[in-house]
Amino acid sequence: MPTTCVVGILWGDEGKGKVIDYLATETDFVVRFGGGHNAGHTLVLPTGKLVLHLIPSGIVHPHTVNVIGNGVVVDPIHLCGEIDKLQKRGLDVRLGQNLLLSERAHVIVEAHRRQDQWTEAQRGSGKIGTTGRGIGPAYADRCARIGLRLGDLLRPELLQRALAAFAAQKNAWFEPAGLAPVDVAALGQELAAAGDKLRAGIVDAGAVLRRAHAAGKRILLEGAQGCLLDLEHGTYPFVTSSHASTGGAFSGTGLPPHAMRTVGIAKAYATRVGEGPFPTELKDDLGDKLRIAGNEFGSTTGRPRRCGWFDTVAVRYSGAVSGASELVLTNLDVLRGFPLKLCVGYRLPDGGRTSELPAFDLDRVTPEFVELPGFGEDLREVRRFDALPANAQRYVQAIEQHTGLPIRTVSVGPERQQVILR
Ligand code: GDP
Repeated sequence: MPTTCVVGILWGDEGKGKVIDYLATETDFVVRFGGGHNAGHTLVLPTGKLVLHLIPSGIVHPHTVNVIGNGVVVDPIHLCGEIDKLQKRGLDVRLGQNLLLSERAHVIVEAHRRQDQWTEAQRGSGKIGTTGRGIGPAYADRCARIGLRLGDLLRPELLQRALAAFAAQKNAWFEPAGLAPVDVAALGQELAAAGDKLRAGIVDAGAVLRRAHAAGKRILLEGAQGCLLDLEHGTYPFVTSSHASTGGAFSGTGLPPHAMRTVGIAKAYATRVGEGPFPTELKDDLGDKLRIAGNEFGSTTGRPRRCGWFDTVAVRYSGAVSGASELVLTNLDVLRGFPLKLCVGYRLPDGGRTSELPAFDLDRVTPEFVELPGFGEDLREVRRFDALPANAQRYVQAIEQHTGLPIRTVSVGPERQQVILR
């Protein structure tokens, strides 16, 4: 099937960047369909580590066309900076050729950042843990129909009209809230200048992708964050403001839903960054040990990630919601020397038991575990499944059994070739 959608199965940071980089060696298009520069995908290339925030991970492959879809919110200043950074690394980034930007994608401006930080501060102890980069407010303005789109940046009259409506709405509450008002003239100039820089790349990306799809081109849809951060299906309200699961791949690209297969990326253990329920979290020394072993610190913010046991209840739910037909299991190497436990059910606050992810009170469930024997061997050089230690094989098979999803690809290190195909 020529179109593959890659989604994170829990709360993001599953190693999607590495998997997409690996799959992109045989792909014509790599498309980001949601989120903003709050995402961070880490690639370990022969030339060193590269963290991408907005530009799809296919950019390191010269033959691949990279598309920022209409479902992404784009901070044009950040995007220009990211293009510069990649070019300085010697990567070939050509707007309109190997980097296309949807004219329908919404724009993040400085006022969104200030709003994001202000709103998060107002939440006090109920804070969500956003990155403060304006992503949520930009999506909210899209829904409120006062958003600015990349295509507006190329149309001076439209831009002025859109900015006037935007500023009128913002300033009506910014000023009473003690926030500096939006300066329409300065913002207009800034956006027009960014539009000039990005002009060659701003296209009807949906039309390009539908033509490519019809021509049988291989398309990889790159999810940001993960299914449990999906605005609809995630652990609301501790979610992101976009559709991080497969649904966002249709609405965020303009590609039709048929003929698409979905691959879910899951770490061999669970992590979560920011606030929100996390039933299998390890709050003890073992959790600290796992954080160090897996280098679980955010690639965008450096924030320490919360770590815990693999949760087959949550993974089965996300697999169902995303329509994943298989899992790619990453970071199996990190579990060397650890005891192995899988969460296979939740005990509810009322004493009942469930193997479904509840919409409420997830912070009050008690996980039920099965224990498996661990392994002490270094897996990073292993390239065949049957060459893995027997206990590592059993762990992978137990995950398949409890999630109902086959695992055909196991990642045993951050580098592109550290992969086992079954
Ligand atoms: P993403 O947002 O899903 O792309 O994930 P991140 O890039 O934020 O985090 C994944 C981290 O794990 C990165 O530092 C990767 O280099 C690293 N990584 C990916 N796969 C593996 C693996 O199989 N083993 C190890 N040890 N690290 C991995």
